[in-house]
Amino acid sequence: MSIKGTAILRERNQKKVLEYLRKNKMCSRLEISKGLNVSKNTVSLIIDQLIKQGIVVERGSKERKGAGRPSVELSIVPGSFHSIGIYVQSDRIEIMVVDYSITIIEHDEVFIDQEDSLLETVIDCCIKTVNRYKNVIGIGIGVPGLVNPSKGIVHHSTNLNWKDVSLKEKIEQKVDEEVSVFNSVKVAALPAIEDNDEDLHSIFYIRISEGIGGAFIINNKIYLGASRTAGEIGHISVEADGPKCKCGQNGCLERLISLNAFKEAVSASESKAVNSNIGELLHDDSSEYVKKLVKNYGCYLGKAISQVIHLMNPQLVIVDSPYNNVPIFEATTMEVVKENSLELPLEQTIINFVDEVYSPAKGAAISIILNFEN
Ligand SMILES: [Zn+2]
Repeated sequence: MSIKGTAILRERNQKKVLEYLRKNKMCSRLEISKGLNVSKNTVSLIIDQLIKQGIVVERGSKERKGAGRPSVELSIVPGSFHSIGIYVQSDRIEIMVVDYSITIIEHDEVFIDQEDSLLETVIDCCIKTVNRYKNVIGIGIGVPGLVNPSKGIVHHSTNLNWKDVSLKEKIEQKVDEEVSVFNSVKVAALPAIEDNDEDLHSIFYIRISEGIGGAFIINNKIYLGASRTAGEIGHISVEADGPKCKCGQNGCLERLISLNAFKEAVSASESKAVNSNIGELLHDDSSEYVKKLVKNYGCYLGKAISQVIHLMNPQLVIVDSPYNNVPIFEATTMEVVKENSLELPLEQTIINFVDEVYSPAKGAAISIILNFEN
């Protein structure tokens, strides 16, 4: 093998070791060697170098079963690497800094005044955050809309009113770190991988917020599709005679049950503006109108999930939604059971409503770590 080839192989093995340590928290050289099927000698050389660089530390020893010397436990030094995730919304920017073990170091929000330029504020947030941390491995930006991650261009974002914005290029002109741009729903699905059993080979993630999006996760990777739009469940039509969606169809899931649709419906019925804290509207003694509305949302959601189950047959469907109460869970499940004429695919699928909404900022930071390891 050429010198260049050897260097690439060493770097690849080093990243595999880091990934193994990140996932297993504490382990010995021997465990890493067995787990990765890499020689103990190679692992030891890599570990020695990582210790010298202050990235890995020895944490005492553990008695081994049977004979032999006790094995020395290793772990990644907290804060030895930082990954920055930023979620851009029209009215606020969410910033999340995690270390290599995906421990949250900083979580902050910057609100946008109407006079501020959103793009300038995003750049400013990047500059200030990078200046606060050492060993930054990259900045991930989650944006609602159509994104080209390989070029870092936001082609179209209705929410942000952006068209063909070269976000990566514009930030990298001001910041000395690599910037990656992602669709916010796709990266929001990444914490779902971290939270769930790695043995799950297929997860369909649905995010309901101002819009509705989804991501299909196969073997811990997000399947993007030919034009990176796979999983767009928001534009599945669930009511043929329903209201017209901005995409041109009638009765799209997004048009019917997104947070925007909810706010619109509640404002019209209760003749008052609905703020962003809709949790207040969904408590036990919420109005009959809201109760009925949310129950209907469950029926629509159930119809869309049925189509996903028929088409993809995932092991787990995760619903990340602001409507988290018992009536919507029940209505969704009942509708899925009713719609599934084929019983077999449903038997192996679990539908799970998450307690706390996943953060696209955290997902963007995780994405940087995963890219670093690959
Ligand atoms: Zn639509």
